[in-house]
Amino acid sequence: MNYYSTNGNATIADLHKAVVKGLAEDRGLYMPEEIKILPKVFFGNIHEMSFQQIAYNVASAFFGEDVDLDALQDIVYDTLAFDCPVVKVKENIYALELFHGPTLAFKDVGARFMARLLQYFIRMEGKGEQVNVLVATSGDTGSAVANGFLGVDGIHVYVLYPKGKVSPIQECQFTTLGQNITAIEVDGVFDDCQALVKSAFMDAELNQHMKLTSANSINVARFLPQAFYYFNAYARMKALDKADELVMCVPSGNFGNICSALFGHQMGLPIKRFIASNNANDVFFNYLLTGKYSPKPSIQTLANAMDVGDPSNFARIINLYSQNKKLTDEATHHRITNLISGATYKDEEIKQTMRQCYEENGYILDPHGACGYQALVDSLQPGEVGVFCETAHPAKFKEKVDDILGIDVEIPARLRAFMEGEKQNVPMTKHFEDFKQYLLKQ
Ligand SMILES: *Cc1c(COP(=O)(O)O)cnc(C)c1O
Repeated sequence: MNYYSTNGNATIADLHKAVVKGLAEDRGLYMPEEIKILPKVFFGNIHEMSFQQIAYNVASAFFGEDVDLDALQDIVYDTLAFDCPVVKVKENIYALELFHGPTLAFKDVGARFMARLLQYFIRMEGKGEQVNVLVATSGDTGSAVANGFLGVDGIHVYVLYPKGKVSPIQECQFTTLGQNITAIEVDGVFDDCQALVKSAFMDAELNQHMKLTSANSINVARFLPQAFYYFNAYARMKALDKADELVMCVPSGNFGNICSALFGHQMGLPIKRFIASNNANDVFFNYLLTGKYSPKPSIQTLANAMDVGDPSNFARIINLYSQNKKLTDEATHHRITNLISGATYKDEEIKQTMRQCYEENGYILDPHGACGYQALVDSLQPGEVGVFCETAHPAKFKEKVDDILGIDVEIPARLRAFMEGEKQNVPMTKHFEDFKQYLLKQ
């Protein structure tokens, strides 16, 4: 399969190149040239298949031309060695719990998949050259990527995170690992971290010095595998006979997760409509309303993994629905608003939702999942059944959840283990020159 750039000024890449480069040379995002439609019989039988079996079918459609099928199956089965259940929260509203992976975050899937795919390509190449992964995180990405890549030989990971803006538990998950993982604490906000990473990829001298790649949600190997979740959600809902008018609601920040769901939809996944739910960072919401995209600096909120003011994957969504710029902006906007609606919630509303859901249903939402749940409560129509992604285990935001609900959320053993490790990081300014000098010394 070939991959082209959303900016249209880069050479076509194969999967290997798209994964190693992450971002195309014109700063665009890679898109597969073809999206395969899966056969009707697959959807007919899907509710009888396991998460791993479903994912292997989807993965074959994406990557089957480029990866040996036995190896691909091994990568998929290794990546998805955990459950992804739908849990009934109230009548017609279900939580798709994406947090049963190693760091209790939905990003575990993309991170592990990418680590194993990159390892596969490095081995195929047989040169033994070290690959360096740079990743900017507002919290969850860093821990998922660090753990997905931990101990994978031939790859070193640098995690850049904004000082004082990730929860203590999240911080432990990437600062205590050691081995091939280095945590870099940037004196700035998430967008500064992202800018440092983007500049590094564009810097000729640095790229001469070391082989760099990204593991942000822009990487095709990270964002596409997230589509597995949505096929699984459909299967589990179909098994309950609740899949006829399915509304899928995705709490969104950089829009990688929902973008993968939209790819699934293009492959024939029968979902009636989507909701992209936001916290106070409402850039996409405003695009839906006005047809104009106006990025802004991010605002810090309770749902901090969604504090993004210029979502990277917006370009992919536009590209998908404009059929790679064949349609006008108006026609594209029209297609998007026909399928996707938006929602935006301020911190006070998120708190209110968490309290109300806990009181009424006994279900503990984390602040991100709360945005998803509330958007369904606010917009579900008669006959529709809603599934929202619960994107993180509430214990990952324990201080906030305990405080808001007045409870003591139990910390799963897996999380507790991270908190016992020793924290190590490299302090860094938000100026690219400093970051560059540091990398040149590695
Ligand atoms: C990353 C993340 C999101 C946002 O996902 P995107 O793919 O960036 O839209 C939502 N919730 C949690 C808990 C996250 O970690």
